Amino acid sequence: MEVVKSVKRNVLLNPGPATTTDTVKYAQVVPDICPREKEFVDIMDEIRRELVKVVHGDPKKHTAVLFAGSGTVVQDVLVNSLVPENKKICVVNNGSYSARLVEIAQHYHIPCVDLKFPSTGLPDLKAVGQALDNDRDIAVVATTHHETGTGVLNPVREIGKMAHDHGCVFIADTISTYGLLPIDMEKENIDFCMSSAQKGLAAMTGVSWTVGGIDEIVKSKTYPTRSYYCNLFMQYDFFERVGEMHFTPPVQTIYALQQAIREYWQEGEMPRYERLSRCWEAVHKGMQEIGLESVIDKKIQSKLVVTIKAPKDGKFDFFKLHDYCYERGFTIYPGKMFGLETFRLCNLGVITCKDIEDFFVIAKEAFRKMGYSIPIA
Ligand SMILES: *Cc1c(COP(=O)(O)O)cnc(C)c1O
Repeated sequence: MEVVKSVKRNVLLNPGPATTTDTVKYAQVVPDICPREKEFVDIMDEIRRELVKVVHGDPKKHTAVLFAGSGTVVQDVLVNSLVPENKKICVVNNGSYSARLVEIAQHYHIPCVDLKFPSTGLPDLKAVGQALDNDRDIAVVATTHHETGTGVLNPVREIGKMAHDHGCVFIADTISTYGLLPIDMEKENIDFCMSSAQKGLAAMTGVSWTVGGIDEIVKSKTYPTRSYYCNLFMQYDFFERVGEMHFTPPVQTIYALQQAIREYWQEGEMPRYERLSRCWEAVHKGMQEIGLESVIDKKIQSKLVVTIKAPKDGKFDFFKLHDYCYERGFTIYPGKMFGLETFRLCNLGVITCKDIEDFFVIAKEAFRKMGYSIPIA
């Protein structure tokens, strides 16, 4: 892959899009091509097989179905396509991304059991079991693997087991863990997982996918079709018959994804996880030096996102901190917690410990400018 001129590198500590390599950026610069050409169909085919491999899917049982759009498109697809007539979806909801699954169900008028739990902790599995015992109309259970809004990592294996014990299909929103944490979908009891190119694979925004069971997709052919553009079976069927997306794919984004997948394998599943774990440790170290606290217990964190409590002394100004860091190449993100001022540091992309250490040098300067002495008392 040729890099004509290196592009200014920004360290994105927001929850996606993530920092990408120049080789992924330049992979988009290709001769114009009609995506209906065999050359492009072959790329799609390769990418679909690779996306199954990333989550250790079985190519005989699992398939990848791609959609044009940000991550939410594939949340939409799975919720609207996998619930049979007169059946319900149950969402184990302890954060804003699970809440989005609930909203999607409501938007399509799909009966939804919304099992709400506090966003600062893990869901109560006993309550999940009881809800499934009590309502035999639930056909689909869905939750978020990693609540990107808080950094909580949910016990998908246990929730998936309960779903299966009750004869339900299990959907895990793995958008912010796919390609970051090692995931074996069968071991984790996941029937459908998903992701989006701009997250863990560190490619470009514009294409998202699910990896799921072929049998379940085929079964869903008889379920109510609630969307035209975003129907799982229709898209799968087109891929199987013609080898491509039903409608125009984001052509250049697909080339970037192809390159990002190559770079994923070049680094390797475990080395990537270990690199990101070291970044996460560096985040905690930097916080400690400044005197900042995390909202979520370290033991239940994904190692990908840390939600930080803002100091409560009236001097803290998120926008001042943000702007100071942004001007120096580091992007941070506000929190998503109700009633508590927080901000987030996310380590999803192609970044290193050194980037985190460099960030904290800048962050300390910004805190001093806000009038703090460090460590903050
Ligand atoms: C990013 C993300 C999404 C999708 O968000 P988009 O803005 O549509 O890309 C969904 N679920 C989780 C857990 C995410 O992190």
